[in-house]
Amino acid sequence: MVVVDRVGARPRRRVGNWAFLRTPWACRVWIGGALGLALVGPVVLADLGRERTAMPEALTGLVLIGLSVLNVEIGRMLEGGVSRGQRPHKGLTAWALASALLLPTWWLLPVVAVTYAHGWWRGMRVTPWKWIGSAAYVVIAGLVAAITARAVLGAEPNLMVGDGRLGVVAVLAAVAAFLVTTTVLFHGSAYLNHRADEVWLRRTLASPSFYLTETGVLLVGGLSAAIWTGGGWFVALLAPVYLLTQRAALHEPLRERAEHDDKTGALRFESWRRLATARAERCVRQDQPWSVLFGDIDHFRDYNETWGHLVGDAALVAVADAIATELRDGDLLGRFGGEEFCVFLPGVSVVEAAAVAERIRARVASAPVPTGDPVTISIGGAAVPPGAAPELVSVLTTADRALYRAKRDGRDRSTVSLVEAVDAA
Ligand code: GH3
Ligand code: MG
Ligand code: MG
Repeated sequence: MVVVDRVGARPRRRVGNWAFLRTPWACRVWIGGALGLALVGPVVLADLGRERTAMPEALTGLVLIGLSVLNVEIGRMLEGGVSRGQRPHKGLTAWALASALLLPTWWLLPVVAVTYAHGWWRGMRVTPWKWIGSAAYVVIAGLVAAITARAVLGAEPNLMVGDGRLGVVAVLAAVAAFLVTTTVLFHGSAYLNHRADEVWLRRTLASPSFYLTETGVLLVGGLSAAIWTGGGWFVALLAPVYLLTQRAALHEPLRERAEHDDKTGALRFESWRRLATARAERCVRQDQPWSVLFGDIDHFRDYNETWGHLVGDAALVAVADAIATELRDGDLLGRFGGEEFCVFLPGVSVVEAAAVAERIRARVASAPVPTGDPVTISIGGAAVPPGAAPELVSVLTTADRALYRAKRDGRDRSTVSLVEAVDAA
């Protein structure tokens, strides 16, 4: 019976275990190389790191793992018991850095492995290969930090030696080396992988506050390491600092969540409008054109009625991904509401906007939707030439009218108006 067939049609899993095999080969080489280096480097170079603690080595390792467990648990507590994915760091790097400063480098492997395994178990989930890649990057960054600290401190075991000057320089140099290494490695996966799969990471890496938070987190790790070499259990007094660091690390994800639609990852309309208004003003100041597209999925009510709303949701996600694939980094994708999307294209003329709209339309029509029953989209656009300075709302209204025409003319098509021409008409 048809009903049975419909029950069998499951939404495509967005996070597939085999998704790694669908990434570009350069991305696979990058991640594979990082994993190999992370597994071999800390063991081969173990002598470069050194034990810098009066406490037994194993105790130091266990304390670091304990602190990272505490780190994740505090994060969960602050989030009301629910950890959400898409956060490769969230304070975890502190313990890798402390390990790099305190222990032979091979310790990076158990410290980072347990830290990441515990984070995974407690719900900090991203696609498995990204989580493993992220752990590998952190191990490599720890290795580079250990080598840097060694270069500054030489054989001196105590980070608190003398008036502390040497230790401070060593910690700062190690933090800088760690940050630069993770930045390079994460940029590698963000830009070697498909754009649509890395929207969040690219956005995060482009945000200055990410680096600010990471620096804070790493400095807390460095400070903990320094205290551990000097006065051991004084580390316990840092507990409130860990709490505050976690709150700071959560600020950005919470802002992200407030600005983006949970279902599709596109901007919520209000955020889209605020950002698009600012960018449109910038285009006007720089005498550049800009355009807006408005897309509405065709016959989506029927699709839902045929396949059910959950399958409809998966198709909606596939459409959002398909649109994102066709956009450049400065473009803005928003969810206007329901199954309607809006796109802001800075610096894009009417001819280019028509080309982008057509590319999006074609990409959506061939998007991998869960049922194999293709979904189509109608797109209306409005383009503002250099020199004109209309309100965003009136341009959206023009795009909406163009969308109406696209629907009326048979759907699965796009049409873009030039704002001046429409206003003059
Ligand atoms: P048209 O081609 O004229 O656009 O036909 P349509 O059926 O798509 O009409 P309309 O744009 O008015 O459809 C809105 C439908 O979209 C209503 C609802 O069933 C569906 N929809 C809106 N938001 C969601 C959502 O978040 N998930 C799912 N599954 N469906 C949604
Ligand atoms: Mg609609
Ligand atoms: Mg529709």
